[in-house]
Amino acid sequence: MPPPITGVIQDLERVLLTPEQISARVAAMAARLNAELAGKVVTVVALMDGGLFFVADLLRRLEMPVRLHTLSASSYQGGTATTGEVKVNWPASFDLRGQDVLLLDDILDTGLTLSAIIERLLVQQPASLRTCVLLSKRRQRLREVALHDAGFEIDDEFVVGYGMDYQGRFRNLPCIGILNPGQPSS
Ligand code: 5GP
Ligand code: MG
Repeated sequence: MPPPITGVIQDLERVLLTPEQISARVAAMAARLNAELAGKVVTVVALMDGGLFFVADLLRRLEMPVRLHTLSASSYQGGTATTGEVKVNWPASFDLRGQDVLLLDDILDTGLTLSAIIERLLVQQPASLRTCVLLSKRRQRLREVALHDAGFEIDDEFVVGYGMDYQGRFRNLPCIGILNPGQPSS
């Protein structure tokens, strides 16, 4: 039984995606990867913390052998606008040469984070690189990102839940929702 979502749910203006919708879509994404990558060993590069639940749910549905690397990425903020510089905690020994890499993140928004990471991953000459996100926002990107798959296309609104936070809260919501207007999103 999933936990009851009363308590924090009252902070939401509305639920955008229910746990059932998320689960069904993640299963479909995994099925596609299972078909395409059958017989391979897959190296997952997962962006934390927002991708935590997406990665955990998707990986449990992958049927091939999987290695997991987690990375944390944050954008440097210069005044009110992002400078476009992305800070990543790259592990010292991180060699993806010849590997089939699956890059996972929660949301594609401006594209700054994923484009910076993809650039660094490609330098290592993996055999293949697939980038999958749970959510892709319909908006103009600052950097284009070639996605292999996106769970859901959503409007350009700030979302929380299923791993994604607002000021450190709401990650534990099993659904994805839009916050009440009383809580400014940025
Ligand atoms: P980008 O570099 O594409 O602008 O930003 C991607 C990152 O910003 C995501 O991985 C996520 O951590 C954060 N982000 C973007 N939009 C949202 C949102 O609506 N809600 C939350 N919680 N995080 C977001
Ligand atoms: Mg993120």
